[in-house]
Amino acid sequence: MQLVKDCIEMQELAWSKRSSGLKTALVPTMGYFHAGHLSLMRWARENADFVITSLFVNPTQFGPNEDLSSYPRDFDRDFALAEKEGVDILFAPDVEDIYDPKHLTWVEVTELDQGLCGQSRPHHFRGVCTVVCKLFNLTLPVIAVFGEKDWQQLAIIRKMTEDLNLPVRIVGRPIVREPDGLAMSSRNAYLTPEERQLAPNIYAGLLEAKAWVQEGIVAASKILGRLNDFYRQKIPAGQIDYLELVEGKSLQSIDRVCAGALLAVAIYLGQARLIDNILLIPEE
Ligand code: AMP
Repeated sequence: MQLVKDCIEMQELAWSKRSSGLKTALVPTMGYFHAGHLSLMRWARENADFVITSLFVNPTQFGPNEDLSSYPRDFDRDFALAEKEGVDILFAPDVEDIYDPKHLTWVEVTELDQGLCGQSRPHHFRGVCTVVCKLFNLTLPVIAVFGEKDWQQLAIIRKMTEDLNLPVRIVGRPIVREPDGLAMSSRNAYLTPEERQLAPNIYAGLLEAKAWVQEGIVAASKILGRLNDFYRQKIPAGQIDYLELVEGKSLQSIDRVCAGALLAVAIYLGQARLIDNILLIPEE
């Protein structure tokens, strides 16, 4: 596996792959790899000719009081894991190389960035879209692979790609979980042993809610009320950021469960802000 740090070198390599007819898949990440990241790389390896994984902790998607400086990093381990998955290039640029001090351009997908995580992280998705757009231009993929764990991010990137006619196919992949159900996340590293024991209840609650729906409960108020009680009881140390029932594509709040209904949650637990989601009824 080749390590590329320089943006110009990356783009030149990407051009040479593209002009020789190879189909590139990009897996954008912020590193500190876990099995969720690796599942995206594996899918890319199986479905494209050439695989680029980007490793870039993007400062513009962090708010002023967020965890940019403490975000977990382990470059050597990440390099070894990506190499083992058969990734061809690990693209790990420096911040100064991605963002010129005179950077003035932002990519924003309006409306979809307002609810859910957008409420407590006002400029987050603007940072994500801008860096993803730049990464597309630097790596020239025909496919880009993202995880459904960040459901809102995936919906926003799909919309950006459609609205800006970007020549990339966006692929969403299922959430990879720990054996006890906790969605894998680099931020799980922040949890104390006690918090780690409570954290699987986030997914347990989502599964409970799915069971209520199967029993015939479809009113959002009822489901959200019950789930709120569940979390207060099972994760007393947690603070709910949001608990919402939305239509999975438009991300609009809904009053009743319908096809494509997504239940999404964000909970602060100690130093970590953990997110998870579940499709209550598959899309038709
Ligand atoms: P991150 O490094 O957290 O920015 O994540 C990079 C990519 O991995 C994003 O597309 C995430 O949605 C995806 N990802 C993160 N956690 C998981 C997981 N548990 N299962 C599947 N994909 C994930």
